[in-house]
Amino acid sequence: MISHGNGIFEIRLPLPFPRLKWVNSFVIASPDGLVLIDCGVDSEESWAALTEGIKAIGHVVQDITRLIGTHLHVDHIGMAPRLVEASGAQFLMHRNAASGIEEYNDWSLRSSVQEKLALRHGAPSEQAKEIHHSLKRPPWAPPVHPPTDLLLDSDRIVVDANRGLEVLHTPGHDPAHICLVDSKTNALFSGDHVLPRITPVVQYDDQEDRLGIYIASLQRIEKLGLKTTYPAHGTTIESGQSRARQIVMHHNQRLDAIVQKLRRGPATGWEIMEGIFRTDLPPVQKRLAFSETMAHVSHLEHRSQVTTFLEKEKILFGLSPNDSSHD
Ligand SMILES: [Zn+2]
Ligand SMILES: [Zn+2]
Repeated sequence: MISHGNGIFEIRLPLPFPRLKWVNSFVIASPDGLVLIDCGVDSEESWAALTEGIKAIGHVVQDITRLIGTHLHVDHIGMAPRLVEASGAQFLMHRNAASGIEEYNDWSLRSSVQEKLALRHGAPSEQAKEIHHSLKRPPWAPPVHPPTDLLLDSDRIVVDANRGLEVLHTPGHDPAHICLVDSKTNALFSGDHVLPRITPVVQYDDQEDRLGIYIASLQRIEKLGLKTTYPAHGTTIESGQSRARQIVMHHNQRLDAIVQKLRRGPATGWEIMEGIFRTDLPPVQKRLAFSETMAHVSHLEHRSQVTTFLEKEKILFGLSPNDSSHD
């Protein structure tokens, strides 16, 4: 347990992922009980770390009265069912979580959608199958119940008479993603929206320009000029504002790399992915790399820099004839 002062505590909960070692769960004490931001996956190790962390603050799990999920990903709300049952806490998430929860709970639907998408965009059938099989529900990801309270942008979660957590809806990494600004310290709880060193995955969606939405959400954080930022992974960020700017630059560089590749000729989504990511990634990471690549290509398409055409039942991407971007 780490105390950040001003009644803000951080508990690191172990994750069963090779690259992400832990998720930060933040605790703020209020006269009505503890407010918890994110709760990790439902494993025995994570539960033990949470209960020990709460004990170190001088409380028990039953003192948690509100659990806020920053977004609908298993490393943030996987333990929500167990925690809500043990504590009777309210479960607060952005309103978009209500419509996303069915997909969150249905892993088989997600895996077949991703397999079909990979095939349509040029993945060899073996690799598309691996993608399908990489999405199996693990025991630490039980189905979750809908939130008890739905949040909207600029809602204020009251901590005490002089303190509140202001909700910032920051979609992109997930449509239900929120950040929270602590009115007492002006610190930002950034969930996965702004992370140190790594950037969160932005996944492809055939309905909307997820990367464009994500970049707009980052620019919002940048404009607010927030400094001390508590991310859900890694350690405290000195300036959320600068980090948000860096992440925008990272995505612009990746967009440039895709445009450069397409200057040499049209390519499938899979080929583009293999041109910008390592080719020896394990299936889980390959699925994310592919989805992220597609989100970038889709953004270029929304900006009319890229067009699609069909060749032998495969979708190819090429630069628009009117593409006016130059080196
Ligand atoms: Zn996430
Ligand atoms: Zn995460």
